[in-house]
Amino acid sequence: MHPFEYAAPETLDQALGLLGEHGDEAKVLAGGQSLIPILHYRLARPRVVIDINGLLLGDIVVENGRLGVGALVRYHQLEESDVIARRCPVLGEAARLIGNVRVRTLGTVGGSLVHADPAAELPAVMTALDARLAVASPSGRRTVAAREFFTGPLTTMLTADEIVTGVEMDAVSSYGWAVEELSRRAGDFAVVAVVALVSLDRRGRVDDARVAFGGVADRPVWARAVEDALRGREPTADVLAHAAQTARDALEPPSDAFVSGAYRRHVAGVLCRRALARAVARALGRT
Ligand SMILES: Cc1cc2nc3c(=O)[nH]c(=O)nc-3n(C[C@H](O)[C@H](O)[C@H](O)COP(=O)(O)OP(=O)(O)OC[C@H]3O[C@@H](n4cnc5c(N)ncnc54)[C@H](O)[C@@H]3O)c2cc1C
Repeated sequence: MHPFEYAAPETLDQALGLLGEHGDEAKVLAGGQSLIPILHYRLARPRVVIDINGLLLGDIVVENGRLGVGALVRYHQLEESDVIARRCPVLGEAARLIGNVRVRTLGTVGGSLVHADPAAELPAVMTALDARLAVASPSGRRTVAAREFFTGPLTTMLTADEIVTGVEMDAVSSYGWAVEELSRRAGDFAVVAVVALVSLDRRGRVDDARVAFGGVADRPVWARAVEDALRGREPTADVLAHAAQTARDALEPPSDAFVSGAYRRHVAGVLCRRALARAVARALGRT
């Protein structure tokens, strides 16, 4: 690694003070599962690394029907938390698909969102849920919609002096959910990932649907057309297949060294249909 100074602030204000002082010469360290390899390969050469693990950003809370997840909540906490299991189980299902045990032990919600890998699971979940990120800087606080936060591959609208402190979303207790993904080996990043949430009304028709894809573009893709194709309709196999087809037709995924864009689009359609079917089955169990 290129040499750097290491700082371990104990409060958010101290961390923000350091970021204000060093700006883009500083890097925040959370779980280190992406930053440490980046430093090893000298893809980033910060003068100062600000370790935020001592900050109190690890809470999972429910307030006024909204679920708040601190930036330092680890993936394994999403898998194990009773609150998450009751209020937003899609987060636990997504976390279980990330990397390996070491990555899930150390990796954080904030780190995943800021790293902004287009194929990562949590950015797609937050996009589907229309979550809001809480952001702090030396000059104040703001919230940013997840659907606007990701601006390109490994790129977000966060500025160099900002820290993500947490993320807030609707508690979706009455929704059925599913995360489907195809990866080349277990634990790899997804080639394609689909997140689906569905709630049903008393007549068994779709009351609300939330769908997003990972791995099919330079950032997570909110599949609004699929949601519109489902709302108010009885979720028969034909309706779900039609909605998935709508999603598939709207995507223009890139090709890479492993798979073609055409293959990605095909897989996206298949996984979307499966995710919707599983989400509907779970919604039936919940209503
Ligand atoms: C073997 C392996 C397999 C993996 N597989 C997957 C996978 O299948 N799916 C997946 O989604 N990810 C995967 N990852 C990546 C993993 O999810 C990382 O944990 C994640 O990308 C970064 O989270 P982190 O907490 O480790 O952040 P770090 O590595 O500490 O930081 C990542 C970036 O975010 C910034 N940052 C971190 N937290 C904050 C914050 N609160 N505010 C502002 N900036 C911040 C850092 O400065 C850095 O630029 C894998 C990693 C490895 C090593």
